[in-house]
Amino acid sequence: MNGIDAVVYERDSHPPTRGLLSFADGRSATYDLLVGADGADSRVRALLTDARPVHTGHNLVELGIADIDRTHPDLAARVGRGNYWVLGHGQSLSAQRNGDGRVRIYLSFYNSDEDWFTTSGIPFGDPAAARVRLIDLFTGWDPRFTALIAACDDTVLPRSITTLPVGLTWPSRPDVTMLGDAAHLMPPVGQGANMALLDGALLGLALAAHPDDVPAAVEEYEREMFARTSAAGRQSAHMQDIRPAWVRVRVP
Ligand SMILES: Cc1cc2nc3c(=O)[nH]c(=O)nc-3n(C[C@H](O)[C@H](O)[C@H](O)COP(=O)(O)OP(=O)(O)OC[C@H]3O[C@@H](n4cnc5c(N)ncnc54)[C@H](O)[C@@H]3O)c2cc1C
Repeated sequence: MNGIDAVVYERDSHPPTRGLLSFADGRSATYDLLVGADGADSRVRALLTDARPVHTGHNLVELGIADIDRTHPDLAARVGRGNYWVLGHGQSLSAQRNGDGRVRIYLSFYNSDEDWFTTSGIPFGDPAAARVRLIDLFTGWDPRFTALIAACDDTVLPRSITTLPVGLTWPSRPDVTMLGDAAHLMPPVGQGANMALLDGALLGLALAAHPDDVPAAVEEYEREMFARTSAAGRQSAHMQDIRPAWVRVRVP
């Protein structure tokens, strides 16, 4: 089935007890419990809250080097086994080793607004030209660092960083809830996916513990999730706030 196109409530019961999902391929389905796990631009979110993601003034470009140990052993040695950071003035380069041998590279541009990708001159449709432009944007950086950009493959993705308000909650509903970025989109400092996975596991456990009382399971899940992810959101927002201070530090 294709993605969710719209979520509405059947009008024939008062209050409405069963929602109706409309899918992009024209099909539809009713549900007893709808779990919005549909990410930053969640459509389900509007059923629970008016909160919407807001741009943080941080844009980044995602690049990557596949099978780095074999293709670029010199760069692999530099990046090491975990996270690698290079901090500059209003910009940073980070490299993160993934489980499949790929190294994901993030080029961050701080204090850049929502329209920055359209004015940056990065030709996202032409990876080779995009790499040239990105190296140009890192003029003055040591060639050891820009070599990581030159070695990247044709994945060149714009990532506009938006967040939901820290500590977002909503009045519990018996038939709809959310998890992951849909519920608590936070700055990308290493907590979002971990929280999303834990949300899913804990919601599953709550439903298993209350097989005959879904509303009680949803409330129990949300109570814990709100407290846990608010703390993670506060910590992530703090990291995001102090990062521009780090990036004033010049790397020798
Ligand atoms: C640059 C960057 C780096 C990050 N690094 C880390 C990190 O190191 N560690 C970490 O823990 N987190 C990290 N995160 C955060 C992490 O990526 C997210 O928190 C995590 O992916 C959230 O998972 P999710 O399942 O809630 O949402 P998503 O991963 O966004 O998944 C949502 C899914 O819903 C689908 N969907 C959306 N709308 C519809 C629809 N209408 N119908 C059907 N399907 C739909 C989407 O296609 C997608 O598959 C990073 C984020 C960014 C932007």
